[in-house]
Amino acid sequence: MKKKVSHIALNNLNVAKFGGTSLANFVAMQNCAKIVKNNPNTKLVVVSASAGVTNLLVDIAHTAMSKQQIKQKLAEIDNIQQAILQALENVDEVEAKLQQLQSSLSDLALHEEMLHRADLKDALLSHGERMSSLLFSAVLNQFDVKAENFDVRNVLKTDSEFGQAVPNLDQISVAAKQLMLPSLVNTVLVTQGFVGSDQQGNTTTLGRGGSDFTAALLAEGLGAETCEIWTDVIGVYTTDPRITDAARPLPELSFEEAAEMATFGAKVLHPATMEPALRQNIKVFVGSSKEPEKGGTWIIRDCET
Ligand code: ADP
Ligand code: ASP
Ligand code: MG
Repeated sequence: MKKKVSHIALNNLNVAKFGGTSLANFVAMQNCAKIVKNNPNTKLVVVSASAGVTNLLVDIAHTAMSKQQIKQKLAEIDNIQQAILQALENVDEVEAKLQQLQSSLSDLALHEEMLHRADLKDALLSHGERMSSLLFSAVLNQFDVKAENFDVRNVLKTDSEFGQAVPNLDQISVAAKQLMLPSLVNTVLVTQGFVGSDQQGNTTTLGRGGSDFTAALLAEGLGAETCEIWTDVIGVYTTDPRITDAARPLPELSFEEAAEMATFGAKVLHPATMEPALRQNIKVFVGSSKEPEKGGTWIIRDCET
């Protein structure tokens, strides 16, 4: 039987991606919630893990540690997430779901074969985005934005190259239209960047910084008009602004220029992000979630610079 593909289309659909520092704590999440609320075209939100969480998970996945040391790392992760949970108003449902995630995270972290199995590492790493997406959807609800947490593994299908999985574009496109689009008509979906699942349903990841790529892939699958990358700088600069004061923000870039900068180390964008944007002519915006009023960089097909 042929799979039914949804024919719903949303005009001017915007996908907004928020990076780790943008979701580091409750105050930072509030800035992001305002950005979502202010743009009625933002129907899909893609999140990174809260700042620091993926690094802690990578430590657990790759370093030989005593049980005590592992528990210490888990406690650090827990502190970051609990601080956000405690700032929420109606915590019961979220707290129960967070506890489930923390329990599966702790089982994996203490798994005897963790250091030797790439599939277990990816399952472990996925917990950062799964926790932040749960918490951020609750923050949005508190801002009166009807939002639901969506498990990206149902849509972001990949091969089984754990740690650096390659997305299957056809499967993503069909699943995004079938499973996400109908809900987007009246709900904002909050989903995980960086995470996917292989053909057997095992959890995979796209490589460090991969949430930007996820946002562009889902924007492509959904036929979005724009994709916003909200981060901690007010756009793409001539060079890393944290390294030199001479760095200048760029108002516009072409897809090719942005792809080249990302490939040669501009960490602000994952190098593969421009591929879906180029294929589907999706305009990409890069700006600061802390200072959205300062504008940012527009990455477009034909730029004037
Ligand atoms: P996020 O967690 O939001 O994904 P990243 O840390 O991955 O953020 O990327 C943002 C960082 O990229 C900035 O803080 C900045 O230091 C760094 N960066 C490197 N090169 C550039 C550049 N050319 N323009 C802007 N930021 C850059
Ligand atoms: N959380 C992942 C990382 O830190 C993915 C991302 O933030 O884009 O690499
Ligand atoms: Mg990044």
